[in-house]
Amino acid sequence: MIVEEHGPNESLEQLKKRIAELEELVKQSNSASGSKPTQAEAPVDITPISEGEMTLRRLVQRIAMILQAEKIVIMFYDREIGELRGIPPAFGVDDEHLNLFRIRATHGISGQVFRDGEPILFHDAANDPRADKDPFALLHVVNGICVPLVIEKRDEENRVIERSMIGVLHSFNKRHGEDFNDEDVRLLERMAKNVGSIIANLQMYREVVEEREELLQTLESLSAGLVLIGSEGRISQMNSSCRAIFGLATSPVGKPYPDLIPNPEIKEMVLRGANGQDVGTAEITVHLHGNDRIYQVNGAQVKHEDGKDLGVVLILNDVTDLKNIEKMKSSFVAMASHELRTPLTAIKGFSSTLLEGIDDDLYTKEDQKEFLNIVVNECDRLRRLIDDLLNTSRIEAGESLKPSYGEVKIRQLLDKVQKIQQQATNRHVIKLSAPDTMPIIVGDEDKLDQTLTNLLNNAIKYSPNGGDITIHAKVEDETDTILLGVQDQGMGIPAEHVDKVFERFHRVDNEDNRKIYGTGLGLFLVKHLVEDIHDGQIWCESEVGVGSTFWVRLPQKLDIEKMEANLG
Ligand code: ADP
Repeated sequence: MIVEEHGPNESLEQLKKRIAELEELVKQSNSASGSKPTQAEAPVDITPISEGEMTLRRLVQRIAMILQAEKIVIMFYDREIGELRGIPPAFGVDDEHLNLFRIRATHGISGQVFRDGEPILFHDAANDPRADKDPFALLHVVNGICVPLVIEKRDEENRVIERSMIGVLHSFNKRHGEDFNDEDVRLLERMAKNVGSIIANLQMYREVVEEREELLQTLESLSAGLVLIGSEGRISQMNSSCRAIFGLATSPVGKPYPDLIPNPEIKEMVLRGANGQDVGTAEITVHLHGNDRIYQVNGAQVKHEDGKDLGVVLILNDVTDLKNIEKMKSSFVAMASHELRTPLTAIKGFSSTLLEGIDDDLYTKEDQKEFLNIVVNECDRLRRLIDDLLNTSRIEAGESLKPSYGEVKIRQLLDKVQKIQQQATNRHVIKLSAPDTMPIIVGDEDKLDQTLTNLLNNAIKYSPNGGDITIHAKVEDETDTILLGVQDQGMGIPAEHVDKVFERFHRVDNEDNRKIYGTGLGLFLVKHLVEDIHDGQIWCESEVGVGSTFWVRLPQKLDIEKMEANLG
């Protein structure tokens, strides 16, 4: 601590000079921490606060020198507890004593000055009845001056528009055995104004910093991405969601935006903003962690109160799911109309043909049988489609498909589905790779049949060039489960779709797949049958051009009571 010593006979001229110096000091501090910065300009670090604190510290030292006081203490009014408390910076008092230096705001000389706003000069602290409750003994106070600390708010024309009492300022123990006088009181009052104004500025600056921190926190916690691009093309703000969208690990602030956000759509938006046009909106696709996500970008120009251009703000919202639903909706309409129309056309065609031929016996019994068979099969296909749609909407509505549990001879079931599916194709060989005997398990036989049939249907459907289809089955003793698999040598599923094929309406969207008609509902229903009705697991392993295997793991001893309770 720098302490300058001044003799007792310092002349009035010198004092005036010192006061002028002080005024200058305060002016400097005002410009360092005073004028309220705008949010966009306010720097994040708190250097001006510490500059302001330094100025206050220096001012307190100067007050001690000018008044030739041993100790200077600022007491701040703590509204919550109704106390005046010693706060740093102080002169001639250590932090520990300063902390203990407190009094109720209604008590003692400190309280009286705080209440009345008038200074008090005292000469004998120990015997002054007004100082009864002041903790003066703690600091060995003999004599002193206590003046009010006031913050004044002024308008543009420097008129005081608001005054608020924030505490008191003490000067204790005049040096060299002297006592304070009225002249000292006037000086201290004058300097208290400067102390008040520095404290006011510090407070104001703290508020601005806190406000800015709050704003930053709010922006950080937004789920939408937000980026502010300054008028000179550098990033001046980017929240964490936005950093995640563009895969940025380090802070991009201050860097030219095209290096980090290369999307041409965004460049166009920024240019529009720079030219004073409407920034507008755009849709961008970002490839991140092997996934394509679609973002809707909305932009606006940011202007300072005085009209100065501050750049462009962009908000990015993830609309991938919305887009997928839109896509799903339109492909569902196309699929449903096709899937409904195809069997209807066949039914109408063959039954009209039969009808026309009745009178003239145009068709043999054999022909008639064949036509009627087609009609029956197409009706079945229609029913299956309608069932799938109904079941899907039931599951979507939170209702499970009603199970009917019993004992299932799994080995026999596998034989049966293998035979039936083999009859449906002559381009594929369906093999069964399973032990001769397998345990009887608990489950819903129809629904397990439906599960296997669906997987085998898909294996046939998505292996248009034929090939082997193998049904795997084994008992997993360690886990008391049964593992079933349906393996094909078909077209395979691209990695990014492997998990998604179990989602409602999800179909692989590529050239080969589009030629094969389907609803995208089968695996969604199968997943429900395996997981919700049988407490099992289902997953897929696949390689494009090599083939796919759908695996199903089922518990051998399903806890029916638990399942029925879960299913409601
Ligand atoms: P659908 O077959 O009616 O389209 P699914 O829910 O049964 O509906 O299958 C969803 C999607 O999963 C299919 O559209 C297809 O892209 C893919 N898929 C299912 N099984 C196979 C398979 N064995 N081989 C390749 N792709 C498959």
